[in-house]
Amino acid sequence: MVLNCKHVWDQVSNYIEGNVDPALREAIETHLAHCRHCAAVLDSTRNILILIADDRVFELPVGYSDRLHARLQEEIGRRE
Ligand SMILES: [Zn+2]
Repeated sequence: MVLNCKHVWDQVSNYIEGNVDPALREAIETHLAHCRHCAAVLDSTRNILILIADDRVFELPVGYSDRLHARLQEEIGRRE
């Protein structure tokens, strides 16, 4: 399975929560190992999820991904 960055971004919150099957997890990890862009996305997403998650169960609202990706683009843009 070959993933592009968009696939990783789509799955990154599932990946963090462990909601991906082993083959997908492996594909994501392989991608992350050589894509620093996605590694940065993973770090940022992890931080955001920790902030949001608290100890509540939360569901991603409609549009969450788009807003998250926009936010991450901003973060990454600022760092580079
Ligand atoms: Zn990538």
